[in-house]
Amino acid sequence: MNRLNSSLVNQDTYMTKRLLITSILGILGVFLAFSSTMAQSNRLSLGIVIPEQDTVEYSFSRYRVAANTHPEAQAFINGKEVKVYSSGAFVDMVFPGDDITPIEFKVVLKGDTLVQTRYLVTPSYKKSLSSVSASNQKPALSTSEKISNKKWFVSENNSGWNANQWYGPDEVIQLSAKATPGVSVFAQLPASEHKIKLHEQSTPGEYTAYMQVPTHAPYGEGGIEYEVRGKWFKRASSAGESMIRWGGLPRIGIVNSSDAYLNIGLGSDRLGGAKYGSLYEGVELQIVGEREGLYKVQLSPSLHAWIPTRFVDLEEGYYEPEQVLTGNIRISGPGLAGNTTDDHDIITVSLGKRLPYIIHTELDPNTIVVDIFGATSNTNWKILYDHAEGINELRWKQIEDNRFRLIIDIAHKRHWGYDVRYGWGGQMQIMVKYPPTIEDATKPLTNRVIAVDAGHGGRNNGSLGATGTMEKEVTLAISKKLQELLEEAGAKVVMTRTDDSYLYMSERADIIRKADAELLVSIHANSIGYSTDPREMKGTGAFYKHMAYKPLAEVMYKKMRELGFEDYGLTGSFNFSLNAPTDFPNVLVETAFMSNPEEEIILLDPYYQRKMAAQIVEGLIEYYNAFAAWPHESLQMND
Ligand SMILES: [Zn+2]
Repeated sequence: MNRLNSSLVNQDTYMTKRLLITSILGILGVFLAFSSTMAQSNRLSLGIVIPEQDTVEYSFSRYRVAANTHPEAQAFINGKEVKVYSSGAFVDMVFPGDDITPIEFKVVLKGDTLVQTRYLVTPSYKKSLSSVSASNQKPALSTSEKISNKKWFVSENNSGWNANQWYGPDEVIQLSAKATPGVSVFAQLPASEHKIKLHEQSTPGEYTAYMQVPTHAPYGEGGIEYEVRGKWFKRASSAGESMIRWGGLPRIGIVNSSDAYLNIGLGSDRLGGAKYGSLYEGVELQIVGEREGLYKVQLSPSLHAWIPTRFVDLEEGYYEPEQVLTGNIRISGPGLAGNTTDDHDIITVSLGKRLPYIIHTELDPNTIVVDIFGATSNTNWKILYDHAEGINELRWKQIEDNRFRLIIDIAHKRHWGYDVRYGWGGQMQIMVKYPPTIEDATKPLTNRVIAVDAGHGGRNNGSLGATGTMEKEVTLAISKKLQELLEEAGAKVVMTRTDDSYLYMSERADIIRKADAELLVSIHANSIGYSTDPREMKGTGAFYKHMAYKPLAEVMYKKMRELGFEDYGLTGSFNFSLNAPTDFPNVLVETAFMSNPEEEIILLDPYYQRKMAAQIVEGLIEYYNAFAAWPHESLQMND
């Protein structure tokens, strides 16, 4: 709570304050200034949260600032008075100019004044400053001077490339070169006959083209060769510095890690890029290319995906993978045909080898849809039902060549999670979990094992409020109250953290699985970027990835809005690590916005923290009442 001791408060402010106090209070002031736990309630203070440093590089037209002071002080940003909230927070938007924009923070209380200035600089201004200092040190010819000294030249312009590029048959390479304006520029793969012409762009001297790798190109590696051709002879040439590989594909790759997953595309965001899902160890993949640390995987004629290269061992040699015909399929209930669980059905599909798969869930009808790649239906196979109580029916469809789809119709109102693994050889096993059975109708959470995840922690502060409060503090406070209320409701609670420790996402998932938790609620508090007005963006939100867990997110969203929060929204297919597990229902609750000064006050208030926790407990009771099994249902199940 003592925000002035926070590292977010600029040291200069603190020193200024100490000097001020010393001069006013004399000997007593000296004593107080050296006491780090002194009360600050009557003294003027200024803490700047955004910008985080004295000088910040920034290129957008709006920038949000956030700071805090004594709640009764007046605050001014660049001379304009702004509202000081009851927490002492104040925020505003500034509009950066061309080169350097000062932001002056001034706070005034009973004749005392504190002022601090921070600066935004544009990237081009920063660059011009550094190039001035560079040219002072080492006078050199500028690029244009060099160019004018040489009549004919050509060079590659692919500075964005990295070393790991491997292009398969018919794939397209984007080429870009700088050369003498108004000439003919050609490119070719080394040792290839095939030359293509580049086209000059609207900027003179810039040339681009798309080059397709020949279908039957043998394996090769090196830099692309560029040349400027005159009417009769070559005038200039150069080899590209970007080393690439081409041809020699497809290759077979074997998944070597239990952490492996398939990415949908090449791009990535702060959460690591959208994913199709995890892949079991030993799965065989057809590798058709490589970019930026990811192999391109051909799943079926119309679908490819990407996988981090570290998860794949390439097999020697070049060959096309063999197709597999599906064998018999058996569905077994607990205690039958290799099913040693007491709360799962297991679907076993004989495939002969470990093929890649993508799984998704749907509601209405309530299904799990498994696409197996490299498999073709053998019309002679049988489905054997063996006391499977959680599955109504299994349907199948050959979607296209090499893409066999199994559709699992769930018998209960919900399944309670699913998982895929490969047993011996190519036996695919899909485990589908029954809903838990309510033990006490008056207290449906009795003995339910529920995981609570307090977002962030340790060196990961999460988002920042204008008072300097960190998201990790708020999420822990709410999570602890949630733990208390859940235990009062009879649940057994698994906390991913109970103190300010740093945890990797995989460690959080491990804690949840080791404790056999049957459901997860992850608690966070939202924030906006630098270019949005923090007063405009607020409200509560709930996030899920798999359609099967949308109803859980819906009930959380509804319960949080009952507290009067605005609607930030319900978001599906969300790429958050703890929304990725399929083996237990999970939800991410973004309680409210840390960056909004009004919501920050609510997030900081222990009374509201408890109310939020109580709403989440009510939501869980509602969810279990609706989707868990009641005792009479489980009696039927055990018949
Ligand atoms: Zn967060």
